Amino acid sequence: MAGEFDFISWIRTQQPSSALVPLAAGDDLAIVNWPADLMLVGVDQVLDGVHFDSARHGPRDIGRKAMNRNLSDCAAMACVPVAAVASVALPRDRGIDYAKQLYLGLRSAADAFDCQIIGGDTGSWDGRLVVTVTILGRADGIEPVRRSGAKVGDTVHVTGPLGGSILGRHMNFTPRIQWARQLARELPITAMIDLSDGLSRDLGHIARASGVGAVIDAAAVPVHEDAIELRRDGISPLDHALHDGEDYELLFTAAPNHSTMLQIGRIIEEPGLWLQQPDATRIPLDPGGWEHTL
Ligand SMILES: [Mg+2]
Repeated sequence: MAGEFDFISWIRTQQPSSALVPLAAGDDLAIVNWPADLMLVGVDQVLDGVHFDSARHGPRDIGRKAMNRNLSDCAAMACVPVAAVASVALPRDRGIDYAKQLYLGLRSAADAFDCQIIGGDTGSWDGRLVVTVTILGRADGIEPVRRSGAKVGDTVHVTGPLGGSILGRHMNFTPRIQWARQLARELPITAMIDLSDGLSRDLGHIARASGVGAVIDAAAVPVHEDAIELRRDGISPLDHALHDGEDYELLFTAAPNHSTMLQIGRIIEEPGLWLQQPDATRIPLDPGGWEHTL
């Protein structure tokens, strides 16, 4: 990238050191004073043409999404994001201003949760834009919520309406970190995941990890107005809500009779996922194909 040294100098001015991070960018590695606590680590990559379309989505939106996907994983485990590092593979025709806008997008998402970007790397190539973020989180007094704790009889809940995120919400969403922390603190949550792959797939992740099955009540699934708007594509709003990806709401299970959050189903002993229809018959709920058509 032309002006790479200018870019690195600019990045340094953007990264104040703190008690937690005595040395951010500027040396071979950042230094972090990690508190005596569990560290939770994850990485997530967004690809041009798969997770965003650089012809339509601006660099700030792309950077924000890349960071928010990682922050949403922090929500899924009810941890606190502390620091992140970002790596960008930049198409050769994108210059330093584009890279700065990407960084500012990453930064705007991270700042909302006091998460510091403590390092990164940028390289130019002949391929398309790729942004990869690694996140470091801490438990901070709450036992991380796994996918594997759902028990027979637990209730199944979501934090908001689902479906149709492709109309724009997949680029701009709020990671449910505060909500996750509050739920985990106040309720006997047994398993949790953020809805990135779609309800039918992500519930399958919980069911398999927990060695249980689940039945979803079709009439209880909250359908987003975007899913209703998408009806014109011939897929019902309910199917959009069940199978679309990237809602970034939380899906969780709780011990019976505890959560008043939107209940959409319950955990059963019989393996597999089932959809209970309004006439009380049950049909298999197969994971729908999560496909972006950007
Ligand atoms: Mg996740």
